[in-house]
Amino acid sequence: MDDLSHFCCQNQDCPDYGKRGLGNLTVCMRYGQHQRRLLYCRTCKDRFSERKGTPLFDSRLPEHKVVEVLHHVAEGVGVRKTSRLVGVSKDTVVRYSLRAGEHAQQLHDELVAFSPSDPRSAV
Ligand SMILES: [Zn+2]
Repeated sequence: MDDLSHFCCQNQDCPDYGKRGLGNLTVCMRYGQHQRRLLYCRTCKDRFSERKGTPLFDSRLPEHKVVEVLHHVAEGVGVRKTSRLVGVSKDTVVRYSLRAGEHAQQLHDELVAFSPSDPRSAV
């Protein structure tokens, strides 16, 4: 069994945000080469990575938005186009690009391996 007692919901709009040991979290999948866990909160039905202290978790954007932003940026899509495609402001795109900095490529490689939207590509 996974011990999730040290984790808490990362969704600031969730009633259980920041509270540990409530049993509201489950592991819904593992992803990436390090098999990081994607956690699911039963209270708000949000999903998030167990990872902390990265640019992703210093953010108010939902993770999937951040992933999309960084993905586009890493693919060389311009700021304006990225903002339009993802549906966030240009400022946000710039902010996350800068924040990710040198980690962008690494982050991108890892996040691209995380593609729950296409079950056919699952191994
Ligand atoms: Zn929650």
